Amino acid sequence: MKIVVQKFGGTSVSTEENRQQVINKVKNAIKEGYSPVLVVSAMGRKGQPYATDTLLSLIDDKFKNTNKLAKDLLMCCGEIISSVVMSDDLYNAGIDAVPLTGGQAGILTDNNFNEATCVDVKPKKIFDLVSQGRVPVVTGFQGVTENGYLTTLGRGGSDTTASILGVALKAEAIEIYTDVDGIMTADPRVVENANLIDVISYYEVFQLAEKGATVIHPKAVEVAMEGNIPILIKNTMSDCKGTLINNFGDKSNDRMMTGITSQKNRIQVSITAAENQGNSKYKNVLDLLAANKISLDLINIFPSEQIFTVNQADKETLENVLNSANLKYILIESCSKVAVIGSKMKGIPGVMAKIIKALSDNNIEVLQTADSHMTIWCLVHSKDEKEAINVLHKTFKL
Ligand code: ADP
Ligand code: MG
Repeated sequence: MKIVVQKFGGTSVSTEENRQQVINKVKNAIKEGYSPVLVVSAMGRKGQPYATDTLLSLIDDKFKNTNKLAKDLLMCCGEIISSVVMSDDLYNAGIDAVPLTGGQAGILTDNNFNEATCVDVKPKKIFDLVSQGRVPVVTGFQGVTENGYLTTLGRGGSDTTASILGVALKAEAIEIYTDVDGIMTADPRVVENANLIDVISYYEVFQLAEKGATVIHPKAVEVAMEGNIPILIKNTMSDCKGTLINNFGDKSNDRMMTGITSQKNRIQVSITAAENQGNSKYKNVLDLLAANKISLDLINIFPSEQIFTVNQADKETLENVLNSANLKYILIESCSKVAVIGSKMKGIPGVMAKIIKALSDNNIEVLQTADSHMTIWCLVHSKDEKEAINVLHKTFKL
């Protein structure tokens, strides 16, 4: 039995016309001798009637923030509808499809509602269906606790479901179908002439995904990597060969940089020693913020000041904590963290200099930088984000 997991995102299942393309992909897999197992997201995007965000708008913020169990139950509905509708279309096309919730598919999670982690998979039901020649259509993004409560795996969790099942079923491949041809050198909505990446390593795509590229969820990459199952990112609407993600990446290519991505909604915080003389809390700022569950990054500590960034969503808590400690600080809001990623930049001198020069030649102010062996980050004003990405895309000839 050669199983292939095929995951279809929100746009792919949103209309009858698009679902016809899904049916073609399933038929092709069967023709090639594979037993497909489908994973589907909720139909459509924000604003469309069965999309997760639309369902969430049916209940009050206060209720959903304090009743995570109820919120999960509601969030599971979009995928449940989608799996039944998709099964119906497949059935009408002569394919014996069976809709299953994540729990019915054997995905067990902890009870960390809204951000649950898969703790075990019991894939027997899927194996049984597949061996009967049937096609399971599993709801993405969800599982069940040992006590039978429905949980969700966090935003983008349908990709994770595909990887979890791919590994548990020892699939030949995990195919993630979406609305672009594959992983590109930058978000094609930001860089018009972004190029398709043919092959990329799990490590590099993890960096891209973790640093902002929404095309695949980083957790899905991690799970597939641990199980050593190749991932293919493909376009539901075309026959493009897509991007292959595996252990080795593209050995034939010696391009230093692989891709560029970014995260919006960052705030830069600076706290100077001079402004806070005599305040004993100054030394323990990082502890204080950690105790209040504010996560920081781009942390630079100098004798004269401490600089870091936080998420826009943590602004209120941050200000409350700093004000109650009588600390003086400066915020720069509306920042974006641009990340340039490439496994071959390691040890090559002058990369950061090249980035800074390219940005300053284009009058883009760099507020902060950081680097690791595979990534260079630059914090810029969000108004400059798009231009910064385009400038760097051109500089590194991506
Ligand atoms: P789905 O609903 O199929 O899961 P997503 O919206 O999660 O789709 O992911 C696809 C989107 O990811 C694309 O429409 C594209 O705008 C965006 N994206 C961001 N970065 C990249 C990138 N480097 N390559 C391809 N797509 C990207
Ligand atoms: Mg997605």
